[in-house]
Amino acid sequence: MPLYVYQCRRCDVRTEVFQRRMDAPREGCVCEACGSGELDRVYTPFAVYRSELDKLRSLDPKYHARVDQALANTREADPMRHLERMTPFESAAEPGDPIKF
Ligand SMILES: [Zn+2]
Repeated sequence: MPLYVYQCRRCDVRTEVFQRRMDAPREGCVCEACGSGELDRVYTPFAVYRSELDKLRSLDPKYHARVDQALANTREADPMRHLERMTPFESAAEPGDPIKF
């Protein structure tokens, strides 16, 4: 739902109003400060919402390559790192009861 801004002719205070459509009548729209119905629409710059994913997609592809390259040189890039730290069940001092699924 778009947000429109109106400026009061009496006190110059701006009031923000949600409207369903651009051509919707602004009946009942009054100034937040003085209650006057004499309002003029103000055209303001608008913001475009971008999700984090959209922001990542808009990055330079060189950036992704550099991140991948930097990660490849770390210990976390090795998928076997967790297996190397595990103790085989047979060689554990007190393996405990097997897990029943
Ligand atoms: Zn006013």
